[in-house]
Amino acid sequence: MRFLTLIGALCVATTPSAYAQDKWTIVIHGGAGEMARGKTSPEQDQALRAGLNAALDAGAGVLAADGSALDAVEAAIKVLEDDPRFNAGRGAVFTWEGRNELDAAIMDGRTRAAGAVAGITRTRNPISLARAVMEKSPHVFLGGEGADRFSIEQGLPQVDPSWFAIPERRKQLERMKADKLSWYDVDLKFGTVGAVAIDADGNVAAATSTGGRTGKRWGRIGDAPVIGAGTYADNRACAVSATGAGEYFIRVGAAHEICARVRMKGETPKQAADAVMAEIGQLGGTGGVIVTGPGGAADWSFNTPGMSRGSASSTGERKVALYGDED
Ligand code: ASP
Repeated sequence: MRFLTLIGALCVATTPSAYAQDKWTIVIHGGAGEMARGKTSPEQDQALRAGLNAALDAGAGVLAADGSALDAVEAAIKVLEDDPRFNAGRGAVFTWEGRNELDAAIMDGRTRAAGAVAGITRTRNPISLARAVMEKSPHVFLGGEGADRFSIEQGLPQVDPSWFAIPERRKQLERMKADKLSWYDVDLKFGTVGAVAIDADGNVAAATSTGGRTGKRWGRIGDAPVIGAGTYADNRACAVSATGAGEYFIRVGAAHEICARVRMKGETPKQAADAVMAEIGQLGGTGGVIVTGPGGAADWSFNTPGMSRGSASSTGERKVALYGDED
């Protein structure tokens, strides 16, 4: 019996390195939405591209120094969380009550270990709290006040909630209330951030961080921190991070569905991403996903006019794009 257990453990332990490769790749997004030429000012265009490039520098820097995919996605996300132009960390959208409540998730494709937080209010970098949940707690998903307390116990950098609040986002909430708009009208550039990577050892990881949707209430949680919906990583398939109308991504189990199609149907990550985005579109959902997997291809799929996105790899390829017609 003990012998069989040992064999079982060895099988599990060897599975993740089955795709060992020399090439690393990182893909990031800064939200899907109405990024159409003419709707984005030249200053916004430049600033978004600069933000994406800075995040790619951080993530690619980790991978180029032989770091892990997990460290790379966390490093990239932290840069985007600190950048007020994106709806994650500083610059997050406001709830109906005028607060910033942050969601984030991270997943390690080697072991399918995962950590997620929802509705947190004081941790400067929500993605690092998600990672602490994965590595330092016996749980996968912590919410609200308890998650904030866990963060303090873990010694993660805390900020006053006003750190996250920027005037432009507050105006979006005011406009939404005054004009009785839906979040689709005010969140033209949704702005959630995500990163997926594969390292030189063939391990994948995924991370997503967001403030959710302007005017969210009743403790609404989107797809970003829901493992399998907005975030998923599995060495046997791929790593996925999503952005868009979270309710649809939850209903479809989007990120897991993409990985499952790759693993069980033998589709490429791109084929699987396109198929799942088509399904989301049929249900009436909008948004996009980024994907990478064995072989190191950098892929994305979205059904909005644009999606802030970028990729870098060990072959020296680097791309940053905002609009749908840029590929
Ligand atoms: N997916 C996020 C949510 O529903 C929002 C976004 O990606 O813009 O909370």
